[in-house]
Amino acid sequence: MIRTGSCLCGAVSYRTTGPLRDLAACHCGQCRKQSGHFYVATDSADSDLEIEGGDALTWYEASSEAKRGFCSNCGSAMFWKSNGTDKTSILLGSMDSPTGLTLDRHIFVDDKGDYYAIPDDHLSFPQDDHDDPRPPRK
Ligand SMILES: [Zn+2]
Ligand SMILES: [Zn+2]
Repeated sequence: MIRTGSCLCGAVSYRTTGPLRDLAACHCGQCRKQSGHFYVATDSADSDLEIEGGDALTWYEASSEAKRGFCSNCGSAMFWKSNGTDKTSILLGSMDSPTGLTLDRHIFVDDKGDYYAIPDDHLSFPQDDHDDPRPPRK
């Protein structure tokens, strides 16, 4: 399945051509600050991801472990990349519908905001999801 997406102003767009990881919502403080709420993302192999307008993309090094890509023109948060990996996380708010994806997993729930609830029938992890029994990719 081919999926497409873009930032709000359209300067940065992308296309994915391979399988994507199951969605996760990250409720950590960094994701909440950067996105204005919590972060819902999937992962694509870098070899399956084509980014157009990369000149408009700014990568903010939020920590020594990862960087966050956003459009320098309109500010849309779009990507997250763990250093030294060959995959990129894509924020679902930037993806065009239909995505064919469903959110049912939440991570870093210990850091979530106090103004919303996580549905009871979703998987939730206090920190990361290394103990998630499900296979990482479908
Ligand atoms: Zn933009
Ligand atoms: Zn996070």
